[in-house]
Amino acid sequence: MDDQARIHRVQELEQTIANCSVCGGLGLTKLDIHDPADPRFGKLVPCPACGPAVRELHEMRLMERLREPISRYTALVGDLQACTFENFDAQRDRRLVNVRNAVIRFVQGEIPWVYLYGPPGNGKTHLAAAATNTLVARGRAVLFATAPELLAMIRDGFDAEQAEDLIGLRQRVPWLVVDDLGAERLTDWAAEVLFRVFNMRYTARAHTLVVSNVRPEEAPEARLRSRFLDVAVCQVVPNGGEDYRRCGNR
Ligand SMILES: [Zn+2]
Repeated sequence: MDDQARIHRVQELEQTIANCSVCGGLGLTKLDIHDPADPRFGKLVPCPACGPAVRELHEMRLMERLREPISRYTALVGDLQACTFENFDAQRDRRLVNVRNAVIRFVQGEIPWVYLYGPPGNGKTHLAAAATNTLVARGRAVLFATAPELLAMIRDGFDAEQAEDLIGLRQRVPWLVVDDLGAERLTDWAAEVLFRVFNMRYTARAHTLVVSNVRPEEAPEARLRSRFLDVAVCQVVPNGGEDYRRCGNR
């Protein structure tokens, strides 16, 4: 989405909200509950009519603020920028169709978390990059990083005394795509940092796609495993496709 399209979209969303006949532009409504003893009595909830527009507008404004740090830290470079769902070759292996469709549902916001795992070089990174590119094209604020890069960024942040900012960015960024979460033993520091980042996102149900070579039961931090295995939040997608080589074959 270019600047002009973004400005146009923001105006469109602002108008949708301002003209909402349900909430009169507030973005919030009261539940239709008349019993003062009901704990929901008088509570404001997101407007059912313009709620999606309010959320999209909020995310676009966040994107404005986060664009610079995201472009500084995001690791989506080179071939990965050309990866799309369309040029993902799912023809020769039916199992790949299901994997691709799960990632598409993630991008559409239907599943908050996806944990995608399988052997190296079978197209996982292509799908992670395709998800990122699709979100970027829709003007979404998305950060793409490998797990080691994520940790390195945060470690550099510590050196520059920006730790809380950086961790805050990681936790605030609406869409996070983490590639290459391996089985390597983590230092206590790295385990704690990863846990904090993921746990905050887990609590907030923030959109998170994790790509790994190992099953969630073997994820490197014990407390993370239960988060990945919570079926109410995370869809675990085994990628059984063999030896995918097209683009971004990490
Ligand atoms: Zn409304």
